[in-house]
Amino acid sequence: MRDFSTGHRWLSINTATLRKSRGQDIALPRILDLCAARGVRAISPWRDQVAAAGLSTVSRMVKSHGLQLSGYCRGGMFPAAGAAGLQAAHDDNRRAVDEARELDAACLVLVVGGLPGALAGKAAHKDIGQAREQVHDGIARLLEHSRSVGMPLAIEPLHPMYAADRACVNTMEQALDLCDALDPARTGALGVAVDVYHVWWDPKLQAQIARAGRDRLLAFHVCDWLTPTRDLLNDRGMMGDGVIDIPRIRGWVEAQGFAGYSEVEIFSTLDWWQRDAAETLDTCIQRHRSAV
Ligand code: ZN
Repeated sequence: MRDFSTGHRWLSINTATLRKSRGQDIALPRILDLCAARGVRAISPWRDQVAAAGLSTVSRMVKSHGLQLSGYCRGGMFPAAGAAGLQAAHDDNRRAVDEARELDAACLVLVVGGLPGALAGKAAHKDIGQAREQVHDGIARLLEHSRSVGMPLAIEPLHPMYAADRACVNTMEQALDLCDALDPARTGALGVAVDVYHVWWDPKLQAQIARAGRDRLLAFHVCDWLTPTRDLLNDRGMMGDGVIDIPRIRGWVEAQGFAGYSEVEIFSTLDWWQRDAAETLDTCIQRHRSAV
């Protein structure tokens, strides 16, 4: 297992972590400057932040700062109530793949979606089985395009508390079943993003990480699980402040040969987004050394 205690060469910052400073939105170019000034080598930006700054501007800045993208957030949201919705999701996902290609991301992260309409508070139906079929079919179709441009797709299983509104793929086992079905030859076109926040509780986690193997471990996301958790979406903890044994899970991932970035992804309305972004980033760097 790599020794992170002496530096942050393998730290990546998911830019949602620095989305707000003292409660105010900050633009992606400012975030890139903050990261570059501290010798951070990799980021994983969100589509809305890239769109706000302009894709070509971000692409230029990433290159001039010498930054790599450990991933691009995000594609997915495949299920829909009708054919037009399914087509719109596909079209949007194709654009996400192309943006990821333009930014030379390591992968496009997929948050696959849940029951159509549920995110807006009004689910169109209760058939989670159908939603899962649409996820399967949506990834299969998107793979035709993503393979053609050489952009790997990383399915991110989300904690089951998000099954209704964000992702009906909730375990590594489910995600890897999709990989086996859609890319049985293990070409590298399809894999998983392991986010400790979502999967730390799973009794099958170690076994499923081994099943994934190096060629399907495309991304590794870290933060911590706070007790109590005060908000289902935006109360993620700083590494070391919660109950997840992050080094143990990193050890399992690296035992398979994963040698990529450890990406810090913290959504924190009540705490870190209230602090100065520089303080949040400096703390990420310290905790990467001590708690990852
Ligand atoms: Zn994640």
